[in-house]
Amino acid sequence: MGGHDTDDPRKFAQEPPFPKEQQSFPGTEKNMDVKPDYGYDTYVGHNKLKDKVAIITGGDSGIGRAVALAYAREGADVVISYLNEHDDAKETARVVEEAGRQVLLVPGDLAEDSHCQKVVDEAVKKFGRIDILVNNAGFQGDQVDDFTKIDRQRLEYAFKTNIIAMFRLSQMSVEHMKPGSAIINTSSIQAYKPSPGILDYACTKGAIVAFTKGLGMDLFPKHGIRVNTVAPGPVWTPLIVESFPAEKVEKFGTQTPVNRAAMPKEYGPAFVFLACNEDSSMISGEVLGITGGLPLA
Ligand code: NAD
Ligand code: MG
Repeated sequence: MGGHDTDDPRKFAQEPPFPKEQQSFPGTEKNMDVKPDYGYDTYVGHNKLKDKVAIITGGDSGIGRAVALAYAREGADVVISYLNEHDDAKETARVVEEAGRQVLLVPGDLAEDSHCQKVVDEAVKKFGRIDILVNNAGFQGDQVDDFTKIDRQRLEYAFKTNIIAMFRLSQMSVEHMKPGSAIINTSSIQAYKPSPGILDYACTKGAIVAFTKGLGMDLFPKHGIRVNTVAPGPVWTPLIVESFPAEKVEKFGTQTPVNRAAMPKEYGPAFVFLACNEDSSMISGEVLGITGGLPLA
């Protein structure tokens, strides 16, 4: 899909219904029928992140790709961590290089501690430092009709991927960060309005809010590193078609006051804002809801 058709934000993106697309984890953007809009035609950079180095987990697709595009157009080099969606990651790499910046792809499972270390080590080996860590990778299991159906393996995988990896990557990165660096996490409206059918996921997103508030208070005075989180509402990405049933996919986004889902392009600017000291120098430990009007708390 192309750029904005109008100045009216209600119409910035595809309106429902969506086709009843279904994929299994990890979904790929390559196999989506309705392609997410990353801002290819619309995002204009202003050197806000000139020569910074950013790690973006889950940067192959969805929100992560929109952040990679925005960061590269703002002048940053990026390290893309992703599970195994190699074609999607290559497309993100193409977008970054097209913006004249360097990219490093690091596939692998962040549920493993050794892989978290590998992402940080490879980033430092290639670029010599880390200025921005975007903890955005996430696993959302299939929606179930009763929480007893969420087995231990899934519960652990959700926690390992969504919060333990974030915790560990932050611990491992901090020694490579100078004052002025930023950590930006992706939480969810699920932290505030949990859906019972994905309660494991919702609990991890609540933990991310607590993690962000606590770390934001700690690292800012101690190291001059700001820590914030974006809490998205519904966004059209592979994660949706891999975890929600067809009927929910079709109506995806209609629960928002604005009656539509977001597109990934509607997240890039917020991640730039929270990474850029000139823009957000007094903001740390904050949650920025981008939900189409649904209040967070
Ligand atoms: P996405 O599927 O495009 O991105 C998630 C990425 O996480 C995947 O590309 C995958 O490579 C990566 N990933 C998953 N498990 C991993 C693992 N174990 N190791 C390494 N990488 C792993 O979907 P998205 O919607 O852009 O998701 C990005 C973030 O946004 C997630 O944290 C998600 O929870 C959050 N979020 C999404 C929505 C939404 O409606 N799409 C709403 C709220 C929050
Ligand atoms: Mg992906």
